[in-house]
Order: sequence, then C-alpha cells, then structure tokens
Amino acid sequence: MEYISTRGAGGSVSASAAIVKGLATDGGLFVPNSIPMLTEQDFQDLTQMTYNQRAVFVLSRFLSDFANDELISCVNSAYNRESFETDTIAPLYKLSDSEYILELWHGPTCAFKDMALQLLPHLLTTSMKKQGSDKEVVILVATSGDTGKAALEGFCDVENTRIIVFYPVSGVSNIQKLQMITQSGGNVGVSAIEGNFDDAQNGVKAIFEDKEYQEVLAKRGFQLSSANSINWGRLVPQIVYYISAYCDLLKNEEIRPDEPVNFVVPTGNFGNILAAYYAMRMGVPVNKLICASNSNNVLTEFIRTGTYNKNRTFHTTCSPSMDILISSNLERLLYHVSGGDTEKVADWMQSLKTEGMYTVTDDMKEYIDNLFYGAYCDDKHTLETIRQIYEKYAYVPDTHTAVAINVYQQYKADTGDTTKTVIASTASPFKFNRSVLSALSQDEITEEDEFVLLEMLAKKQADLKIPRSLSELRAKEQRFTGVCDKTAMKGVIDGFLENKA
Ligand SMILES: *Cc1c(COP(=O)(O)O)cnc(C)c1O
Repeated sequence: MEYISTRGAGGSVSASAAIVKGLATDGGLFVPNSIPMLTEQDFQDLTQMTYNQRAVFVLSRFLSDFANDELISCVNSAYNRESFETDTIAPLYKLSDSEYILELWHGPTCAFKDMALQLLPHLLTTSMKKQGSDKEVVILVATSGDTGKAALEGFCDVENTRIIVFYPVSGVSNIQKLQMITQSGGNVGVSAIEGNFDDAQNGVKAIFEDKEYQEVLAKRGFQLSSANSINWGRLVPQIVYYISAYCDLLKNEEIRPDEPVNFVVPTGNFGNILAAYYAMRMGVPVNKLICASNSNNVLTEFIRTGTYNKNRTFHTTCSPSMDILISSNLERLLYHVSGGDTEKVADWMQSLKTEGMYTVTDDMKEYIDNLFYGAYCDDKHTLETIRQIYEKYAYVPDTHTAVAINVYQQYKADTGDTTKTVIASTASPFKFNRSVLSALSQDEITEEDEFVLLEMLAKKQADLKIPRSLSELRAKEQRFTGVCDKTAMKGVIDGFLENKA
C-alpha cells in the first residue's frame, strides 16, 4: 500500500516514508491510496484475538512495508501491563442495554492520546531504519498539556530517540505540570517557556523552519521530527480500537453478525472520529458516526451546512482538549468523500487559510449529512450530564466523555434511533477531577491540593480507583524546573542534547 498527499503533489510513498515525513511536501496529509476491506472470515478471526493481535492484524493491512515480526514487536512494546492498567487495553463498559463506553484512557497518562502515542515511537524508529536513516530522532513538542505528557511517556527511553517538550509557564493545569516535570527517562527534556501556548508553539515552529539550525543538528547526528496528530502513524493505531470494540460486541453476543452500530466521538482535531470512518470503510457496519463538540461547535455547523467557518469566538471550556477551531484531520475526510479530488482539497485548504472558511459541494454535503450527525454541548450541560450518568448508572464520565453522552442523548431524542451505540471515552475522570467533582457536588470546588481532589473523587464511587500514574506523582522527583525565554529555546535544546543518555 502506498500513501499520497491529500493535495495531490509529490507522488506516492511507502508507509514508513509517510511516517518519517509526517507531512507531505505540498503541506497536505498522507492518505492510503486504497482502503483495505476485511472479510467475514477476517472478522471471525479477529473476534478470537487479543487486543495486541487485533492491532497487528489491522496495522499489517496499512503498513505493508513492515514485516510481521516488526509489527508484533512495535505493538507489544506499546500495549502491555506495565503501561496500561488493564489487560484488555481498550475495554468496553456496558452502560445500558444499548449503550457501551469504549474506555480509551487506561494508558500511562490517563487520556486516549496514549493509544496512539505509545505506539508511534516504535513505528517511527522502525520506519527510520527502513528509510536507511542512521540519525537519532529529536521530537520537539509544544504543548498545552495532554499531548506533551503523552508524547513524553511514549518516547521515554525508546532507543534512537530524544524528546523535548516546551509548555507555557501559565497555561497548563497543576497536575499536567507535575506530570511533565517529573517525567522519568534518560532521553527526555522538559522546559517551561515564558508566555502562552502560542508563544511555545510559534517557537517550536520557527525551529522547524530554521534549515541552518537543522544542518548543525544533522552534523551532530540528530534529525528533528514531530509527534503531531496529523502523522499517519498516530491515526492508524486509532482504527484498531473501533474494530476491536465491534469484535468485542460480536464476541459477547451483544450484536448479531452484520448488525450495524453507532459510534459517538468527542471531537477536536477530527483524528479520533476519522479513525472510526476508516474502520467503517474497512467493513465495520456503521449506522451513524456521531460527532460531539463543546461550545467550539465549528464541526456541528460543518456537518449540518457543508460550510466550515473558523471565524468565530474561541471558547475556553471544561473539556479543554476539544477547544479547537481548526480540525486538521478533516482534510483527510474531504479527500475521501470528494472521491480523491486533490485539486478541490487544495483549494479548500487555501480558502481556509486566506478566508477562514470553505464550502463543500452539494453531493458531499449530502453524503456527510447522511453518514454523520453533529451536535454540541455547553459546559452547563456537560456538568449536568456527568451528574445524571452518575446518579442513573453509578458511572463517572470525564468532561469530554460527558459531551459525547449528551450529544448522543440529543441524537436519540432527535431521531428515535435505537441502534446499539459505542461512545468513545477519551479521558479518565481523575484527569479532570475539579470539574467532575464540581458536577457531582453541584458546587464550586475550593480545595487547592490536587492529591486531596483525587482522594475526594475516589470516594464518590466504589469502582473508582485513582490511576497509579497520578497517585505516584506526589512522591516523584521534580526533575525539570527550568523556565526559559522564548528567544532561548535553541539553547535549551542544545543543553538537553549534550546530556548523553
Ligand atoms: C485530544 C482529545 C480529544 C479530541 O480528539 P481529536 O482526535 O483531536 O478529535 C478528545 N478528548 C480528549 C481527552 C483528548 O485528549
């Protein structure tokens, strides 16, 4: 299987080349030139497999230049009991007769980004070898919280890699900061940067554009790369859990063979829900893909009208990982839904850049409106939903998952559809403990100490256990307490690179 740019330039490349490059030369995203179809027999086989076996099976269809033993080694290094607090990796929790919660947050940072970022480093280093590179990869990340920690955990002590993360000094939560500055590993570096998230991101971008500096690094044996969510190596691991969830439903006889399901996904950058779309294209019978947004409802409008318009007020919400106005991975959907019309995709992306908006064709609008359902939920309803689900089912969803549940409730009221439904749960409630606690107690939470908050939440429900990785933070050494000016980032990088692991 080969990969091409959504914008048409640059010909086709192998999977490993697409993973090493990240972004195509014309600024487009890599997409597979065909989508592999699973047979009935494949589904029967998959149903009998463990999560890791399912992952190898699905990955092998997309990463055709990887040998099977390479994939096995990558998958087993990513998904194991050391990193995940469950044997089943992505367990399906039955909430009611027709609703299932796909828990994607049992990894080391308690959010779904682990599902991709535990695997990406292994796919990347294997790809580097395949591409004949002898360089050590240096991953640079600017983060507003979740991605930085997930990338640090993913790359921690992975051979031939270094990872350096910059976070804005004011702009991450206490627990996120603690998670990052206590990171273990001989190949990691973390620094705060004076300023906000944009300052951190602009600083990292400038370094990626600085060819001279990259030549200096190359002479020292280093090659820069990013762990960005548009890398194909981050998307492909996400397809696995939708197929796996469907197989679990089959295996547990919750559904008949060929019975369609709905997937509900709390969406920001459109990566997670796009993976569900690929799972459908591979043969998972899907009735609706339900795209849940918070008050940043640019995607709701797009699904309903065919117009994407980012010219709107940015809202800071209690589901911060979905506070996004440009959903980069939507570009891949446009490519597939337009029948591979790269010229049109390039035009729309140009229009997004210059006008902040674009409108798809009537045919595409109709197709998207048929397959997807889009709705959104504000903070007040998000917190109400947490409380309602807790009271009704003794289950505590995090804020992002609550957005998805609320949107699914809107969908049911709107359509009367009774199709069995899988709701993607993207974070542990402990990760957003303050909002979750305020929802449960219907009051402002004044307690400042994060560890007291964790204890308070654990007391709310018998099954709730504080994730090991969060409770351990209190005793961990704070290794990275430095703060740098945004003009001094290169110096910080040089410093980290000098410290031989
Ligand atoms: C990143 C993230 C999302 C959004 O996922 P996308 O793939 O960007 O749509 C939702 N919830 C949580 C907790 C996240 O970290």
